Formats: sequence, C-alpha cells, structure tokens
Amino acid sequence: MAATAHIAGSPDHLTPQQRELIDLAATLGRERFAPRAAAIDRDAVFPFENYADLRAAGLLGICVPKAAGGLGADFSTYVMVAAEIGRHCGATALTWNMHVCSTMWAGFIADDLDMTPEQRADHERIRAIHFDRVVNQGKVYAQPFSEGGAAAAGKVPFGTLARKVDGGYVVNGRKIFASLSGAADYYGVLCTLDQPGATQRDSMYLAVPADAQGVRVFGEWDPLGMRGTVSRNLEFTEVFVPDEARMMPEGLYFQAAMRYPHMFATLSPTYMGLAQAAYDFTVQYLRGEVPGMPPVKRRMYPTKQVAVAQMRIQLEQTRALFLQNARDARIDPDRDTRMRLYAAHHTIMESANDIARLAIRTCGGQSMLKSLPLERIYRDSRCGSLMLPWTAELCVDRLGRECLYEPGERDEEGG
Ligand SMILES: Cc1cc2nc3c(=O)[nH]c(=O)nc-3n(C[C@H](O)[C@H](O)[C@H](O)COP(=O)(O)OP(=O)(O)OC[C@H]3O[C@@H](n4cnc5c(N)ncnc54)[C@H](O)[C@@H]3O)c2cc1C
Repeated sequence: MAATAHIAGSPDHLTPQQRELIDLAATLGRERFAPRAAAIDRDAVFPFENYADLRAAGLLGICVPKAAGGLGADFSTYVMVAAEIGRHCGATALTWNMHVCSTMWAGFIADDLDMTPEQRADHERIRAIHFDRVVNQGKVYAQPFSEGGAAAAGKVPFGTLARKVDGGYVVNGRKIFASLSGAADYYGVLCTLDQPGATQRDSMYLAVPADAQGVRVFGEWDPLGMRGTVSRNLEFTEVFVPDEARMMPEGLYFQAAMRYPHMFATLSPTYMGLAQAAYDFTVQYLRGEVPGMPPVKRRMYPTKQVAVAQMRIQLEQTRALFLQNARDARIDPDRDTRMRLYAAHHTIMESANDIARLAIRTCGGQSMLKSLPLERIYRDSRCGSLMLPWTAELCVDRLGRECLYEPGERDEEGG
C-alpha cells in the first residue's frame, strides 16, 4: 500500500500535543468516520455515532481552555486536526467546526479582546457554564449565523433580534442553513440587541437551548453535498434565554469580527482535508489498491503520472497557504496578513473542488460510482466556496479592494 502523507506535510515541526491529536483524528477518521461516511451522505443524516466518538475522545473540548477541563488547543492545532477529520468525513469535520468555534470564540479569542474588568469577570463566570456543558456533559453547540440576507456577509446587522428583559433576553427571528439543526443541544445564535438605531456593533452571541419553548426546526434537507451536516432552517419565536446564554459580553462579537478575522477561517480546514482525500484516493486507485476494486494498476500511463503530479502540486500549494494561515492567526493582524488570509481561504475552498475534479477525470468512469468515496468528496468539496461570510466571491471582492486602496482612500467622482 502507498504511504499516505501527513496532513501537516511533515510532523517534524509539530508540538507533542499537535502530533498526538492529529494521530488521534487520523485513527478515528480511518477506523470509524470513513466507514460510516457513505451511509451518512446517502441518507442525509447527522453523524451521531461520530459525535459519540468525538465526545469519548475529549475532542468536543479541543479548544476549551485546560483550566476549564478542555484540551486547550490553539488555532493552528485545531485547524490541522479539523483537516485530518475532513479527510475522512467532510460533514463531521464541518459540523464539528461549528461546535468548536463556539468554544474558540468564547475561549482564546475572547481572551485577546478588550473588556472592562466587570465584563471580563462576567464573561469568566458565564463561559465556565458553557465549558462545563461541553467538557463534563458532552453537550454540542451549533452556530446559526446565516439569514438569507446581507447580514452573514457582514454588510448589515443580523435580523434576528434579542430583546433585553429582566434576567435575560427574548429572541425572535429566523436562520437558514443551520448545520446540526435537530442534533445540537444549543444553538449559538448571532443576533442584534433590539434597541433603537441598533447597528452591527450591537451584535450578540447567545446560546439558545434546542429544547427551549419557541424554537422550531423546519424545511427540507436534500442538498448536493455535505449532506450529513443537516443544515435546516431555524425559527425563534419569543424564546426566553437567561443572561447566562451570552457566549460573549454585549458588543464583543463585533470587536472579535473586526480584530480577529481568522475566526472566520475555520471553515476551510475541512476542505483542506477533502483536497487531501481526493489526492489520496487517486494514488490508491492508480496503484490498484482501492479496497473492493479489482487490483488493476493504471499508474504506468504517462498521462496519469502527469495528472497526479499536477494534483500533488496544487495540493502542496494549498497546504503551504493552509499552514501559513494556521501560524498567522492572531489579534489585530496587519493588512498583509489579512490579505494572505483571504488568499489562503479562497485557495483552499477552490482547490478542494478543483483537485476532486481532476481526481475524477484522472481515475476515470468507475471512480465516480457511488460505491466509492470520490464522488462524495467531489460533491462535498463544491460547498466550501459558498460559505459566508467568506465565499470565494467575497474573498476576491475584499482582496481586490484591499490590494488597490490604502485604508480610508476613496475615488474622486469620475476619477
Ligand atoms: C453545507 C453547508 C453548511 C452550512 N452551515 C451553516 C451553519 O452552520 N451556519 C450558518 O450560519 N450558515 C451555514 N451555511 C450557510 C452559508 O454560510 C451561507 O450563508 C449560505 O450558503 C448562503 O447561501 P445564499 O444562497 O443565501 O447566499 P446569498 O446571500 O444569496 O449569496 C449568494 C452569493 O452572492 C455573494 N454575495 C452575498 N452577499 C454579497 C455582498 N454583500 N456583496 C457581494 N457578493 C455577495 C456571495 O458570493 C454568495 O455566495 C452552510 C452552507 C452550506 C452549503
């Protein structure tokens, strides 16, 4: 059998924790997630069994600080582990990302934000409740953000509103494409504090219990790819949540979005994993080593060698940007770092599908049969570029503007 590459290229420069967690993800992925992936995709059902494995392995708390009982992984550790999971089951990696982000945003990202001492103390008290649910009770958080308007692209305030009442908030609104709908224990809802003249600065991040009165999951779910994410719609009608539902103090989400842009770059590791999976499959296939297939080798044809080399080049280009991006994450990155981030995110999302496309073309007709994983990888990989706030289009949009305009620069009329 061909040796498979490490998701980080080489483990040599990794910390012991990074090596250990990536190995753990690889074992779970190979032995548990990959064998279940076809049925999850076929039936468009949530991967509950995979979540039981993630829970048992402590991976629900990967980004929960060690002081709160979690694994205390930093950004770069998380993204590499996520990519390794994506290599075996895209839907598991993508939904796990929604869950992990809840703990990452309330965790090390919030640590870097400016807060008053009172806000900090309040945040410490409240996040301990959320972390305890994840680490000790195995609870899962989703991250409904998208509404079908311009809010998820960061252009207008969220239309979902949180009205302040005695002891908490009352939430009203709708979300679309909520991965883990019907499966999560809490929905980490992005919404706007309901007050006159509210802007994006008044965004709130509230964990709404899935079984709270007034929460409804609705709509069909029969998509092209990422079918196991079960991203149906949510409706909140006069849902009361206590003050402890705050995942961040009022107003802090906006600060995070402005100052820690890597918080939105956690969707792409799943697609780095899918790119690797498409390449892995192609090598296995051309060597005649795909389990269940006749051991017919196709590697001796020069056209196959050229195609697989082309795939490897694109994979390594993608990995290089992925790893650089992993190292770059920090509060207040400079402008060049932000531009590299858009370039990396765009490259990963687009390359995943491109490499999967080349894989099908190179392996040939039999490789797109539903009995093999490649056609699922191809469909799943198509979904990355569609994900807000940084769709492939919006990355290009932001990057193009930032390349050509210095901060604050405008064109004179007609100029
Ligand atoms: C598998 C999957 C899982 C998902 N899971 C979640 C989840 O858990 N939580 C969540 O919140 N969302 C989730 N999403 C939703 C996703 O992030 C997007 O919000 C959704 O795909 C947007 O679809 P739309 O057709 O409404 O996009 P639209 O808003 O109609 O946008 C269509 C395209 O137009 C472009 N566009 C949009 N706004 C602008 C603008 N202001 N300026 C210029 N161009 C613009 C973008 O390129 C975008 O792709 C998921 C999506 C998928 C496919």
